[in-house]
Amino acid sequence: MHLGTPAINHHHNIAIAGAGVAGLAAAIFFSRAGHSVTVYDKAGKPAPVGSGLILQPTGQAALHALGLADVLAQRGARLKRLDGRLEDGGRKVLDVHYDALGPDVYGLAVHRAALFDILHDAAKEAGVKFCYGHAVAGVEAAGGRAGLTFDGAPAAGPFSLVIDALGVRSPFIERSNAFLNYGALWANAPFPFGSDFSEDVLSQRYRGAEVSAGVMPIGTMRDGGPPLAAFFWTLRADHVDAWRMTPLQRWKDRVLKLWPEAAPVLEHFTHHDQFVFAHYAHHTAPRPVESPVVHIGDAWHAASPQLGQGANMALLDAWALARALERHDEIADALDAFALMRGRHVKLYQTMSRLFTPVYQSDSKLLPAIRDRFAEPLSSFWFMPKLLASMVAGTLGDPLEKLSPD
Ligand SMILES: Cc1cc2nc3c(=O)[nH]c(=O)nc-3n(C[C@H](O)[C@H](O)[C@H](O)COP(=O)(O)OP(=O)(O)OC[C@H]3O[C@@H](n4cnc5c(N)ncnc54)[C@H](O)[C@@H]3O)c2cc1C
Repeated sequence: MHLGTPAINHHHNIAIAGAGVAGLAAAIFFSRAGHSVTVYDKAGKPAPVGSGLILQPTGQAALHALGLADVLAQRGARLKRLDGRLEDGGRKVLDVHYDALGPDVYGLAVHRAALFDILHDAAKEAGVKFCYGHAVAGVEAAGGRAGLTFDGAPAAGPFSLVIDALGVRSPFIERSNAFLNYGALWANAPFPFGSDFSEDVLSQRYRGAEVSAGVMPIGTMRDGGPPLAAFFWTLRADHVDAWRMTPLQRWKDRVLKLWPEAAPVLEHFTHHDQFVFAHYAHHTAPRPVESPVVHIGDAWHAASPQLGQGANMALLDAWALARALERHDEIADALDAFALMRGRHVKLYQTMSRLFTPVYQSDSKLLPAIRDRFAEPLSSFWFMPKLLASMVAGTLGDPLEKLSPD
């Protein structure tokens, strides 16, 4: 038996809408605990979208509870530092050392496909039923049970619990436009061994808050595959079409002017189609729980990846939900307990993300000027290395405390 999945008193029929990080992790926890779990996703077949992400110590702890941390650690790249500098490569405006929290603490940067494959395989092995090609349109709840409706497919249910893990575009949540002006182009390249880049450092270069680029080692996509690096370039969402019309070499020349050392990565990019544009969003649903429906992951709280927390928060949500259902027989009680376990941490990180994102990605001239002047001197205060590392590690607010075994 895996950690955190003891036998249950009550058996539940659970529907999970969305086969992303949150949905898959929740599916594994609940299926292993003996519940019947069906996952619905609009995608025609299992497929991760995007490039790389960092599993922070919080997300690593959730994966450990799932018994999947070791297998993922073999594929990912262990980051010791996040290093962001102004374009001349001198002044640091982001300087995070994970070892400020202990010698064995690191960020595990992974290819999204590696995380997805490992979660998906574990869910299948745990007996989760998958229904792909099901675009969820809504939820209908009555008498403490709920059913799902779909575009072009018969409704399903009733279920004793419906988990909304549909991400930032969840149709269950009413929100005004959550999307920010900015996002980033992402693409992967072979890791540039023998260059200025190091396999344990995420490197970034900035000019103001409008222009920035990064190179993140992400390990291998599959066992035995070549080590890769993710490259990302900040771009306004309304400039993506113009970027596509611009000859790629002209754009590469622009990047090289900002960051000449990135040449060994850029040389692998020959087509616009190698890039995916990720449009960043920020929103927090006012209530994560409308029993028997619960919103987890980006459906509850989406943020730009400046603090690198989204997938980790999704994993923590899934873990907390599983713990809550172990501790409470009634769904309504379990969901209230879940909201209490995660609420404070979610609020804290959503607030920090709201504050920090414009400093690193926005049209502001003032905020990056303040950053460029003060970030480096501030980071030399004795308490800053640990504070910065805790912030990035996701451990501020002690989110793991409430998840530890009873
Ligand atoms: C470029 C980028 C970089 C990032 N970097 C990091 C990082 O370093 N660290 C980190 O922790 N996080 C990072 N994040 C954030 C992280 O990827 C998300 O927070 C995380 O994936 C959220 O997981 P989720 O399961 O809630 O949603 P998602 O992963 O978005 O999954 C939602 C699922 O629901 C499905 N779906 C959506 N709508 C419907 C529908 N109507 N019907 C049926 N299915 C539907 C989708 O197909 C998808 O499978 C990054 C995000 C981006 C975009």
